[in-house]
Amino acid sequence: MKELSCDLHIVGGALTGLLTAYCVSSLGYKIIVSERKNIMQDNKQPINDTRTTAIAEGSKVFLESQGLWKFIKGFAEPIKNIKVVDKTANSNLEFNNSITKTSLGYIVKNSKLISILTNELKKKNNVKFITGSNLNSISYHNSKIISVSNNKRINSKLIIAADGKNSTVRKILGTNFFKKKYNEKALVINFFHERPHNNIAYEIFFKTGPLAILPMQKERKRNQSALIWSNKPEIIDKITSLDLHNKYLEEILNEKIYQQLGSVTNINSVQSFPLSAHINEKFYDNKTVYVGDAAHSIHPIAGQGWNLGLRDVNSITKLLRETKENNLEIGTKSFCKMYNDACYYDAFRLFEITDKLDWIFKKDQPYFKFLKKFGFNIINKNKIFKEQIVKFAMGLN
Ligand SMILES: Cc1cc2nc3c(=O)[nH]c(=O)nc-3n(C[C@H](O)[C@H](O)[C@H](O)COP(=O)(O)OP(=O)(O)OC[C@H]3O[C@@H](n4cnc5c(N)ncnc54)[C@H](O)[C@@H]3O)c2cc1C
Repeated sequence: MKELSCDLHIVGGALTGLLTAYCVSSLGYKIIVSERKNIMQDNKQPINDTRTTAIAEGSKVFLESQGLWKFIKGFAEPIKNIKVVDKTANSNLEFNNSITKTSLGYIVKNSKLISILTNELKKKNNVKFITGSNLNSISYHNSKIISVSNNKRINSKLIIAADGKNSTVRKILGTNFFKKKYNEKALVINFFHERPHNNIAYEIFFKTGPLAILPMQKERKRNQSALIWSNKPEIIDKITSLDLHNKYLEEILNEKIYQQLGSVTNINSVQSFPLSAHINEKFYDNKTVYVGDAAHSIHPIAGQGWNLGLRDVNSITKLLRETKENNLEIGTKSFCKMYNDACYYDAFRLFEITDKLDWIFKKDQPYFKFLKKFGFNIINKNKIFKEQIVKFAMGLN
């Protein structure tokens, strides 16, 4: 079995793992990223995830500070307005950004983000990728943490677990977590349509779950958007089992988007994702820290999951920089605890907010309808309150 050594072993090479490797690489640490899937070969499209990610303004500012936004911005469609409709209480809200005059967020394809990150990482001499590497055991020797995968043994000072919501690292180390299953699936459809989206994002709340319509970049001069619709798994399964060019699928989509975007002219992709949320009891263990979905996953109702992961990346980058500057050890208990303290509260707060939003918007009993209508009215009338919500959605407070 091949034996390798590094300072930082990042387990998981998707959005969070790759971003962590990129941000930390400038600090001079020797880094290994190990990824279970066989991605990043020959510059081929690395993954078949057709989802888009809504990047909040606050995250854009971080990506800018890391020198990454310049590569992303050409592929990012700005959100200038958000229209919220609560179908159960028949109420509306509209948000725009009159405060900082920037956009509210940006829609970028996940596959684009991954290929930008992998391309930039290939230029870094201190970062090594190992793909097709499925981590399956962890042990400790002296001051090292040793991980063994199907074909490699990697010695490092710290494992950064970026291996997603079903984290293998978490399973092996036995870090406790709280999980919530929503009994919902999210249907994700990218499609071309007749009328321009005018950079408006829609969030429509139904009794069965939220539906978002997000503005995407034009492709071959054709208007494009993404629909993300949470509903009962059996309904989503039926829809995803339909052929891409099935008339029935087009009818369902038209019914949801016609009012805002005109007729659907082509359906480009259909995918679905079971929805659950979790939060680890702590974001560290012995010589290990958890980042992104390995630490927390939240309901996509507000499109904040990866934005939250970015805040973890920001925290671990800052901590590693300070540790290097002060010539301190990485991976000690106090190091891991400091990382935890920098991110835990923020993640817990968003976990709770998104969970409660999903809960309340599904309620259609008279008492809840009244409460929601009342809430929408207050927000509509109070400019300061509205601005606070906008700032929160933009990741600016
Ligand atoms: C429908 C939907 C819409 C969303 N929309 C948004 C949005 O608009 N904005 C937003 O901010 N967030 C959004 N999110 C959340 C966002 O997609 C996730 O937070 C993000 O993709 C998590 O990335 P990650 O790298 O942390 O984890 P993952 O994407 O799960 O990656 C984990 C990686 O680890 C690898 N791995 C796993 N086990 C091992 C192992 N044993 N050894 C080696 N490698 C391993 C996996 O192969 C994978 O590549 C959405 C989520 C859903 C479901």
